[in-house]
Amino acid sequence: MAQRILIIEDEAKFARFVEMELTYEGYTVAKALDGREGLDLVAAHDYDLVLLDVMLPGLNGMEVLRRIRRISAVPIIMLTARDSVMDKVAGLDNGADDYITKPFAIEELLARIRTALRKGAAGRSSDTLQAGPLVLQPARRQVTAGGQAVDLTKREFDLLQFLMEHKGQVITRDVLLEQVWGFDFDGETNVVDVYIRFLRAKIDEVLGKKVIATVRGVGYVIRDEG
Ligand code: CA
Repeated sequence: MAQRILIIEDEAKFARFVEMELTYEGYTVAKALDGREGLDLVAAHDYDLVLLDVMLPGLNGMEVLRRIRRISAVPIIMLTARDSVMDKVAGLDNGADDYITKPFAIEELLARIRTALRKGAAGRSSDTLQAGPLVLQPARRQVTAGGQAVDLTKREFDLLQFLMEHKGQVITRDVLLEQVWGFDFDGETNVVDVYIRFLRAKIDEVLGKKVIATVRGVGYVIRDEG
């Protein structure tokens, strides 16, 4: 069955252009010309991916993103008009999977879509991960520590998931940046340390012990010890 993509974009001509290209590639495409219509469609249908424009009239793209994340883990690629670092950071922190800056080559969009769909499918199919008292369910995007639910942002969740998938292995900052933040992340590499601190603050507090260990000069590891 064809994969279904929803485009939420107020510029009708641009949306139509993307729709035609995606349809040509074999995707089934739906369009919403504003955020509210987009939210209604996400609530009513099961999409494999959402393309969400940041610059929307009324309910802006960031707000639409936040509201979609309350009801769905569907992969979302943000379309940003400006090459704004703030938009990228805000978008990714609010649960977007990727972003692409307009204007873009359609081939680049198609590549991003394939990547996001692949990740989405992997996330849905993977089994529960466990490290001692820490349990992560990729499909439900839920984490519990000692049976207690831990509320994580998307980025924190992705980071923890990657470490748990590689339990017992020391993972370098470079690998974490590449795997969790993506190949085109252009910020500071200490962002990894910052997010490890966020995770520790949330998890260690509940468990009363350290789950993510620092291997000085190398990286981080989650060890499975009771
Ligand atoms: Ca727009």
